[in-house]
Amino acid sequence: MHHMKKDALVDIIRNAGFRATKPRRTLLTYLQKTRLPQTILEIADGLKDSIDQVTVYRIVEAFTKAGLVRQIDLRMGRPRYEIADARDHHHVVCVRCERIEDFIGCDSDHLADKALKQVKGFSHITGHSLEFFGLCNSCVKQGPTLQAA
Ligand SMILES: [Zn+2]
Ligand SMILES: [Zn+2]
Repeated sequence: MHHMKKDALVDIIRNAGFRATKPRRTLLTYLQKTRLPQTILEIADGLKDSIDQVTVYRIVEAFTKAGLVRQIDLRMGRPRYEIADARDHHHVVCVRCERIEDFIGCDSDHLADKALKQVKGFSHITGHSLEFFGLCNSCVKQGPTLQAA
């Protein structure tokens, strides 16, 4: 279910401590619909510039601090943002064209146990971060001689 009822959306925004203004509702709806991590520019483009880039930036920053949005560093210079839901998922990123796909099922409990057995100074794991980098099919087809974009 991608689309949320307007009332639920307003509640989410208000519970995070904001007034549920139209730009905030529009932006959160958009991130809920698109799912994949996007740059500020991509979000502004996706909203067809109905919200200017500076405002997109401000809302996204505020939402990130409030925990509604998650910032993701995919080593591509510009931070990307996605909706922060409970779904444990990660990303596979093309190092050439920046195509991104989600994957689920990282077996993090097993890894967390392993980590806690190795380290001495920790007894609790509260979260994790994991991304895979590679080449997408269309970049592989283009061959190894082409320069990275
Ligand atoms: Zn690619
Ligand atoms: Zn995970």
